[in-house]
Amino acid sequence: MSVATSDVELLLSLSEDEIQLRDLIRDVVKNEVIPARMELDEKNEYPIEVFKKFKEAGLFGALFDEDVGGLGMGLMASIILSEEVAYGCLGVGTALLATKLGALPIEVGGTPEQKQKWIPPLASGDKICAFGLTEPGAGSDVPALTTTAVKKGDKYVLNGTKQWISGAGTADFYTVFAMTNKERGTRGISCLIVEKGTPGFSFGKKEDKLGIRCSETRQLIFEDCEVPAENLVGGVENVGMIHALKTLNFSRPAVAASAVGTAQGAFDCAIQYAREREQFGVKIASFQAIQHMLADMAMRIEASRLLTYKSARYCMAGAKDMAKYSAIAKCYAADTAMAVATDGVQIYGGYGYTKEYPAEKFFRDAKILQIYEGTSQIQKNEIAAGLIKEAASKR
Ligand SMILES: Cc1cc2nc3c(=O)[nH]c(=O)nc-3n(C[C@H](O)[C@H](O)[C@H](O)COP(=O)(O)OP(=O)(O)OC[C@H]3O[C@@H](n4cnc5c(N)ncnc54)[C@H](O)[C@@H]3O)c2cc1C
Repeated sequence: MSVATSDVELLLSLSEDEIQLRDLIRDVVKNEVIPARMELDEKNEYPIEVFKKFKEAGLFGALFDEDVGGLGMGLMASIILSEEVAYGCLGVGTALLATKLGALPIEVGGTPEQKQKWIPPLASGDKICAFGLTEPGAGSDVPALTTTAVKKGDKYVLNGTKQWISGAGTADFYTVFAMTNKERGTRGISCLIVEKGTPGFSFGKKEDKLGIRCSETRQLIFEDCEVPAENLVGGVENVGMIHALKTLNFSRPAVAASAVGTAQGAFDCAIQYAREREQFGVKIASFQAIQHMLADMAMRIEASRLLTYKSARYCMAGAKDMAKYSAIAKCYAADTAMAVATDGVQIYGGYGYTKEYPAEKFFRDAKILQIYEGTSQIQKNEIAAGLIKEAASKR
């Protein structure tokens, strides 16, 4: 009996369509992302040319439902896309996923009219968007946000600053979270769609980051910025926190998938190097210390992939504990990517510490996975909260 080369296909029951999509993305990544990644990283340059190729291949559509112009393959398509693109370059992957992250509040909370207006240009790749939740003083502590949106006739007047926004500057529009009722705390947050070019809306400087350098990151600055009231997501005030939490439940499995791709990319480079590099007259892959490092890396990657796909299936099924599973997958896969990328550098020795090989880029890129969309510590808070709630309901 022949055995499928990829156990992932067997165990995770990828459909024919999903396998086809994965193979298409692999080709684009091999031909367009991997050859460009070092230059994009060095120049700190947004991957516009790469995105043109993604658009030609119809890859933006993989992120969206059919009724808004996408392929309608569900969350699994985002997972596959995230893993495969991050395998080549997490910077490109982050820039790509930022547009999905920005769209999610509209997808999970928007009116049918808002979905029809804002999502199709994203699915075709004609426009991109971004997600503005974090603020200088409100990172993990989302309820501490101070940006305000005050209703004035048929407009909302926005004031405040958003921090570390992926895609800022390039994105055509932004889902921005602001207080519409400060007294109500988290129940006073709303989400608004703000277009680039709106008077009173400007950007901070481009951040000079450790890794994912081709994904641009900037502040969003709002100074008496007037936004049409019809841009209030869902048309209802003070439910923005629900949109934000739902968004993160769906986006975290994709971040986990990006972590799996990053880890696999770092691993594949390291094992090839170990098979080629000779010391003491033998290949370093023959040393048990190196073999055990490779085995540990592979075990963690396999476990991360299984958790990631499981969390995605849970989200697709709308399982009630999907927040916990999204957090488990994101935390475990992010920590794995960092550990694997670190061991990757170790296997390369001194060469891994230079830009001659991709090991150092995987290492620099991997760190962000433990920080954005909720740090690893915040994921553990979320997991523990879910576990304690479950335990209480069993009594
Ligand atoms: C490159 C990059 C891109 C980003 N892209 C976006 C984006 O597109 N949109 C967006 O809205 N945001 C974005 N972010 C923001 C990101 O989600 C936040 O940086 C992250 O949530 C952490 O917030 P913080 O940086 O303020 O850290 P802090 O919240 O200040 O955390 C500092 C440290 O304290 C720990 N900590 C904080 N609170 C707790 C707690 N309760 N329990 C245990 N430990 C705790 C954290 O784990 C961390 O180790 C991005 C960030 C970066 C760096």
